[in-house]
Amino acid sequence: MFKLIRKIEDLNSWHASNSKAIGLVPTMGNLHVGHLSLVNKSLNENSVTLVTIFVNPKQFGPNEDFAEYPRTLERDCELLKEELDKFSGKELVVFAPASTDEIYPDGFSTIISVNGISEILCGADRPGHFDGVTTVVHRLFNISKASTAYFGQKDYQQVKVIQRMVLDMGLQIDIKTLPISRDEDGLARSSRNQYLTTEARQMALTLPKTLSQIEKLLTSDSWLNSGVEINKILETSLSDKRWNYLEIKDANNLNEVTPNTNKVVILGAFKVDKTRLIDNRLVKINYA
Ligand code: AMP
Repeated sequence: MFKLIRKIEDLNSWHASNSKAIGLVPTMGNLHVGHLSLVNKSLNENSVTLVTIFVNPKQFGPNEDFAEYPRTLERDCELLKEELDKFSGKELVVFAPASTDEIYPDGFSTIISVNGISEILCGADRPGHFDGVTTVVHRLFNISKASTAYFGQKDYQQVKVIQRMVLDMGLQIDIKTLPISRDEDGLARSSRNQYLTTEARQMALTLPKTLSQIEKLLTSDSWLNSGVEINKILETSLSDKRWNYLEIKDANNLNEVTPNTNKVVILGAFKVDKTRLIDNRLVKINYA
């Protein structure tokens, strides 16, 4: 069964008649194969899946693309119905607030802010971004009453920030992270890819290619032995202003790599024209 809900009060009425565990997939819409892989997993694991579609103004900076962000609700619903059709006996509810007031009613004044981890990498480039994310995600966790929420590894730092919030606030929700879905040329799928011209897309491939290059060095030698080669790549890349950052961190907590680190994440943010793209690779390492 498919249902589209546009108002909080209707969502609450629906809750009153639902007794099944809910899997939540929070999105900003303009769905692609990456989003649908999360929905598919939730449909697989839960009787009821709630997909939220909300372009959250609080996570966009003043000069970012909030106004232009693609809004395609009708098409999104069609894609979700197709995904639901692959299953029998499942329920898929889309909550797409009719207006921002549904999420942030008049007088809304609470900000959920996770210190430290929200301030590095994307947080350093986009001040306040993660406060916007945690504020909306905390609210979506509450209004969805979900027991499991599905996120993409593509936004690696986002998942880490949310996991920290869940731990710190003692939220009763299980966070699951799913692999990055890529186009055939290796570019991670993103709603923002459609802003790219053919030429810009070619340039954008610098991001996954550089991550792969570093990944290869890390898998073929130890952390210490691969250091010189990797530092050369980091230095050359970062002298190119299109890179917002390119860093290797402990995959557990995004701290610096130490002798105790056994898994790292290579994270990059790369800007082509006005389009900012992010990507990452998880790699098991031997320190020495
Ligand atoms: P967004 O609509 O961009 O806020 O993304 C909603 C969810 O889909 C987030 O958990 C993202 O990490 C996830 N997502 C976006 N792109 C991809 C992708 N290429 N592969 C897997 N998950 C993704």
